Amino acid sequence: MSVEDIFACEQCGYCCHGETTVSLDDNDVKCMCEYLQLPFEEVKQKYLRVTGTVIQMKTVDGHCIFFAGNCSVHPGRPWRCRQWPLHPSILSDQANFTAIASSCPGIKKEIGYKKFCQKLKEILK
Ligand code: SF4
Ligand code: SF4
Repeated sequence: MSVEDIFACEQCGYCCHGETTVSLDDNDVKCMCEYLQLPFEEVKQKYLRVTGTVIQMKTVDGHCIFFAGNCSVHPGRPWRCRQWPLHPSILSDQANFTAIASSCPGIKKEIGYKKFCQKLKEILK
């Protein structure tokens, strides 16, 4: 079983666009600092948007600051970015599958919801 059976990123960039980004947890921030080889304060000042306890990435021109045709911090990207688009909520509600598949052209929706879920379950095990 491989991810390619149900998903292959087409690098359309949709998931990196918008005026906000996914939120980062403590481990995401740590990994990003390590990947960028910069101290937290510098990463925060250059790349992060902190609102109360919520940490997101800054956006520029309607997309994540790290989007440059593709993800420029791919190995250090947040876990929510890693998870997309194979979100476990697909398994519990076909509407989530439909919504995600309509946003992400990399989803192989032609295999059908039932078969997609069978394969996704294996992958998420
Ligand atoms: S929306 Fe899907 S296909 Fe497009 S870049 Fe994101 S993961 Fe890849
Ligand atoms: S960190 Fe990378 S994958 Fe996540 S939104 Fe930004 S550019 Fe996209």
